[in-house]
Amino acid sequence: MIEERATVEAAKAAFDSEFEKFEDLAVNGDDAAALLNEVAALRVRHTGKKSSLAEAKKLIGKVPPESRGEFGQFVQSVEKDLVERLDGVEALLAAAVSNAKTEAERVDVTLPGRRVKRGTLHPITIVRQRIEEIFVSMGYSIEDDREIETDYYNFDALNIPEGHPARESQDTFYTTDGFALRSQTSTVQIRAMERRGVPIRIIAPGKVFRRDTPDMTHVPMFHQIEGLCVDKGITMAHLKGTVTEWLKRLFGEDTVTRFRPSYFPFTEPSAEFDFSCFKCHGTGKLEGERCRPCKGSGWIELGGSGMVHPNVLKAVGVDPKVYSGFAFGFGLERMAALMYSIDDIRHLFENDLRFLEQFG
Ligand SMILES: [Zn+2]
Repeated sequence: MIEERATVEAAKAAFDSEFEKFEDLAVNGDDAAALLNEVAALRVRHTGKKSSLAEAKKLIGKVPPESRGEFGQFVQSVEKDLVERLDGVEALLAAAVSNAKTEAERVDVTLPGRRVKRGTLHPITIVRQRIEEIFVSMGYSIEDDREIETDYYNFDALNIPEGHPARESQDTFYTTDGFALRSQTSTVQIRAMERRGVPIRIIAPGKVFRRDTPDMTHVPMFHQIEGLCVDKGITMAHLKGTVTEWLKRLFGEDTVTRFRPSYFPFTEPSAEFDFSCFKCHGTGKLEGERCRPCKGSGWIELGGSGMVHPNVLKAVGVDPKVYSGFAFGFGLERMAALMYSIDDIRHLFENDLRFLEQFG
C-alpha cells in the first residue's frame, strides 16, 4: 500500500507544480481567456481518463482488503481537492472574461456623438424639381409612365411611321421580346391623353434611352422633360409664351427666347428653341473673354417644340378640327451641365461622391 500511496502523491505533486501559476491570480480580461483554456487542459491532464489519478484508481482493487477502504478514501480526497481547486480558478477566470467584455461594451455617454453624414440631392434631381415647381405654379400637372414601351406608343402613335430611321435598332434599344426602351418621353403624352382626355396640361419628366456611345455630351440613358398643352384655340403664340415664361422664371426676367424652324414627326410646324445665355446675358462675352456656356454666341440651344401633329391627336381620338395643342421637350443633363458648369455629362452617372457632394 505504501507504493500505491506514493503513486497518488506523485500525481498530486505533479498537479501542484503545474497549478502553482494559478494561485493568487491577478489577470486582465485578455489573459483570462487564454488561461481558461490552460485550466481546461490541466483538468483533462490530471483528472481525465488517461491521468495518473485515473491509473491510481485502478490500483484500489489490488490493495489488500484490510487497507482498501483507507486507500480508496485517500484517492477520493486527492481527486476532490484537485477538482475543487480547478473549479475555483475557472470561476475566477470566467468572471474576469465577462467583466472585460462588459467594460469593452460600455458606452461613454460623455463622448461627442458620431455625426450622421447627410446625403445631397443629385444635380439632375435638383434641376428637375426646380422646373417641376415652375410648371406646377403655371397650372401644369406632372405625369409619369412606363419606360418600356410597345412600338405603337413609342413610334406609331407619335406619327413616326415604319421605315423611319428612329425606329432602326441602331438607334433604339429593344428587349429580346420586341419591346422598345422609350426613346423620348413623348410616349407619356399619348398615354396621358388616352387616360385623361383633353383639355390637358402636363409635363412628363423621365428617363429615355438611345443607343449612343458615351462621350462628353452623350450617354445612352438620359432624362427629358416633355411638356404638352391641348385645348381649344391653342396656337404657336401660347407655345412661345409658355416656353419664354418658364425660362424667365428659371434664369431671370431678362431672358429672351428665339424659335428656329425644324422638323419632328410628332409636331407641325416644328421649331427648336434657344434662350439668351444666362451667364453673359446674350452678349457672348464674359469679362472680356468669349463666354463658355454659349460659346460666344449669346444663345443657348435647348430643345425641340411645335404644334401637336393632327395625326397624334387622331391617334388618341381627339378631333384636330376642334382641338389643337403644343408640345416641347428638352434634356435635363444638358440643363444641369449648363447651370452647374459641368464639362462632361458622364460625371452625372459615375456616382463619384467627390463630384456629387458639390451640389448640396
Ligand atoms: Zn454666354
